[in-house]
Amino acid sequence: MEDCIFCKIIAGEIPSTKVYEDEDVVAFLDITQTTKGHTLLVPKKHVRNLLASSPEEAALLFSKVPALANIIVEKMHAKGMNILQNNESIAGQTVFHTHIHLIPRYGEADGFV
Ligand code: 5GP
Ligand code: ZN
Repeated sequence: MEDCIFCKIIAGEIPSTKVYEDEDVVAFLDITQTTKGHTLLVPKKHVRNLLASSPEEAALLFSKVPALANIIVEKMHAKGMNILQNNESIAGQTVFHTHIHLIPRYGEADGFV
C-alpha cells in the first residue's frame, strides 16, 4: 500500500534489520529499541490492524509468534518477553499496518523492571 512504511520495508524500499522472513510474514528490529532485540512481526499483506483483520489473517500472524519469540529469547539470552499489539491511535498505534511487538526482558539491565 502506498505511503505505508511497513509495506516499504517489506518491499525492500526502506532498509531494516530483518530477524525472520517467510512467505507470510517478516520480522525486523524496531527502530526504537525499547529493550535490546525489540522486534516487530508484520504480515506481508497490508491490513490496518487486528480490528480490520479476518480470523484467518489474525490466526496466521499469531501462529508465527511462539517460534519467533523463542528464537529471540534464546539468541538474546533474555529471561522473558512482552508481546504487545496496538490498534488505532487511541490505543497507541502509530503505524497503520498490523504488527506485533516482541520485547525481550532481561531484568534490571533493561532499565524497565
Ligand atoms: P505502534 O506504536 O504502531 O504499535 O508501533 C510502531 C512501531 O514502529 C514503533 O515502535 C516505531 O518505533 C516503529 N517504527 C516506526 N517507523 C519505523 C521504521 O522506519 N523502521 C522500523 N524498523 N521501525 C519503525
Ligand atoms: Zn502496509
